[in-house]
Amino acid sequence: MKITDIESHVLLAPNFDVTKTSSAQDSFVVVVHTDEGITGVGESDLNPWIARACLEAPATHTMSRGMKNLLIGQDPLKIESLWERVYVGTAMDGRRGALIHALGAVDMALWDIKGKAAGKPVYQLLGGEARDAVTPYASLQPSGDSFEMYRDSLVEWALRAKELGFRAVKAEVTLNGPYAHNNLVESYERHTEIIAAVRNAIGPEITLMVDVQYMWDDFASAIAVVRDWGEFNLFFLETPIWVDKLHDYARLQEEAPMKIAMGEWLATRHEFSAAIEYGKLDVVQPDIGRVGGLTEALVVCEMARDHGRLVVPHCWKTGISVSAAAHLAFVTHNCPFIEYLPPQICEEVLRRELVEEDLTMVDGTIQPPTAPGLGIELDWDTLKRFEVE
Ligand SMILES: [Mg+2]
Repeated sequence: MKITDIESHVLLAPNFDVTKTSSAQDSFVVVVHTDEGITGVGESDLNPWIARACLEAPATHTMSRGMKNLLIGQDPLKIESLWERVYVGTAMDGRRGALIHALGAVDMALWDIKGKAAGKPVYQLLGGEARDAVTPYASLQPSGDSFEMYRDSLVEWALRAKELGFRAVKAEVTLNGPYAHNNLVESYERHTEIIAAVRNAIGPEITLMVDVQYMWDDFASAIAVVRDWGEFNLFFLETPIWVDKLHDYARLQEEAPMKIAMGEWLATRHEFSAAIEYGKLDVVQPDIGRVGGLTEALVVCEMARDHGRLVVPHCWKTGISVSAAAHLAFVTHNCPFIEYLPPQICEEVLRRELVEEDLTMVDGTIQPPTAPGLGIELDWDTLKRFEVE
């Protein structure tokens, strides 16, 4: 089999709001075509115009060969060799960041092709014994202009997720906006009040995580607040400190009363290796597209397992990425949860409408997918409706 073409699609929700911290408002989707008529679909979470340039840029020399140039004519089933071919052939443009994130979409599509060619769901090709079920946690989106509205919106979301059968929920609690580094004591008391309200509403049985979006500048300011959050029985605290401050992460991991999680922005095993070794993360959160696709995510999961760490994939995207995360989780035994934007209660139109996925929820868990490949049906009318130049 040979790759004959790679289509790239830049999608944007018409009601997108640039002040909103939600990357599910856009999407970068690729469709890989082959000479045998099998096509694969993949997605990644980065500015879709930048992603398209990573794919489409023409080759200019041996260290900048252009991703599409490197892939057309190649055998789509040799996924690891193709990954390496792109990694080396784009060395001056990539190795980390946008190019690896864009490669992640192509890698996902290649796994989709491999599954379809074999007539098997992707997780059965990833190696290792499969689990019986995977547990999604519902990501909750706060809204409202006042403190009270913000708090109440999270409580309402948590209750709706519980009604839908979710066993775990994650609240984004960032009153000051992300990366605010705001040290007002009053503001932190309000954050504490919100977490208390959500915990009270859902009761002790539901697992609760909190994402504070890189709120603190360093270990000292973070521990001063989160020391008191032990009573809320949080499963993990996500991205408390700026992503590059790994030594502050390590200190927080030692002293905080909950697990510390990070990794949504990281690309390749190399960034995760540093985060695990120097940041001492309890929970690593690779985003399947951004880390470099399923191929690289598998390596990260293994690395986490070997260091006794948990994996909880980040996923703030459409059913394409959700499906890829689910397939990964089915063979990752150190993965207690995957992130999941519930389409029933989510504001993001692309998440709700772009694809139909082959994931059945029973009693708050996802059952093993049965359709070949990633098991997703792209809705082409929706894709055309949200496609921009
Ligand atoms: Mg996050």
